[in-house]
Amino acid sequence: MTTPILEPGSILGVLGGGQLGAMFATAARRMGYRVAVWDPDPDAPAHQLAAHSYTSPFPDPTSREQFVSLVHAVTLEWENVPAELCGWLEERCRMTPSSAVLRTLQDRIEQKQFLSSRLLSVPSFAAVESAGQLNLAVDRLGLPAVCKTAKSGYDGKGQWILRSPSDVKLAETILEQAKSGQRWIVEQFIPFVRELSALVVRNESGECRVYPVVENRHEQGILRDTLVPASVSPDVTEQAEALSAQAVAALQGVGVFCVELFQTEDGNLLINEIAPRPHNSGHYTLDVCTVSQFEQQVRVICGLPLGEVRLLSPAVMVNLIGEDVRSVMSAAGFSTLYSTSGAVLHLYGKPMIRPGRKMGHVTFAAPQKETAIVTAQKFIATLRRPV
Ligand code: AMP
Repeated sequence: MTTPILEPGSILGVLGGGQLGAMFATAARRMGYRVAVWDPDPDAPAHQLAAHSYTSPFPDPTSREQFVSLVHAVTLEWENVPAELCGWLEERCRMTPSSAVLRTLQDRIEQKQFLSSRLLSVPSFAAVESAGQLNLAVDRLGLPAVCKTAKSGYDGKGQWILRSPSDVKLAETILEQAKSGQRWIVEQFIPFVRELSALVVRNESGECRVYPVVENRHEQGILRDTLVPASVSPDVTEQAEALSAQAVAALQGVGVFCVELFQTEDGNLLINEIAPRPHNSGHYTLDVCTVSQFEQQVRVICGLPLGEVRLLSPAVMVNLIGEDVRSVMSAAGFSTLYSTSGAVLHLYGKPMIRPGRKMGHVTFAAPQKETAIVTAQKFIATLRRPV
């Protein structure tokens, strides 16, 4: 099936207006499209780039009617937008990804059940709705384990590592105090040697491109940095790319997806999570790929040919998290960063610094991967200190 091409001048809607929405809007504008951003937060960065802004709550019926009559296609930048709204929109206009894919991925239990039903490797897991079920799950999976809310958690929020019986007791209390109907997933803790991820772009015809596999380091559940290409063997690269593409094809996903993987000591790969949108670990594509993940998102929703996924240079992307940004936002900080060969600074224009909030990122590109790593590590060492 070929999707008719939406011509430049068309209006592309995006649900969610965070930095991913802003980067999508920047790509869309460069390609001649106009963008309508819908995010209830008036300070969301993407509003600044929008031709049309909606800040009403998502259930608002008047805004829904206005939005759908304005846009020619809709996408999203955050998987926690209401799937019901996406379903409503897709009955009336082109919506990518579909609400069915969104429903499966929004719920960690459904996501893992789906992947394991397709024989795609995931950590052993159990669905839990009560303290009693938590104990049964821990008996079966053993400790350490990870307990996560089934819905809505991100950047490590809503999850706890259970290392000891006292951690389990604490989690039991949290479960007992939670609203009725709330669900959790308990997963075996994977002592991974590396966290990897791959961006997969797939269109309506099932044509698919996979970006190079990258290596991610997290701090307290938040992405600290991404190295591209990952320091893994060609065999692991091939397996990671194949597994990521298979997972998105199994979902019949259309759009840009990020497949996050754990690599274990014995070289096995397990899927941790799939995001149905461009991803923080794919920001390097803006500076060191021929076509960025955001341009691919525009291309897919507009029915344009998929772009190359060619890497032009090794790089390390470093997130500016919370107070990190203060180290950059000073005369000395700017002077250091802008004098660093291969460094590209991105600031998201968020008015308030909050702990754990992503305020910007820096891509360090270099002809040799080792140089990019050393430069990025030196930069990380300057963060959170006055410069
Ligand atoms: P998530 O929100 O599920 O992507 O989890 C955030 C981070 O927590 C991951 O990137 C891992 O560093 C860690 N994590 C999540 N699940 C597990 C697991 N089953 N075993 C080990 N670490 C995990």
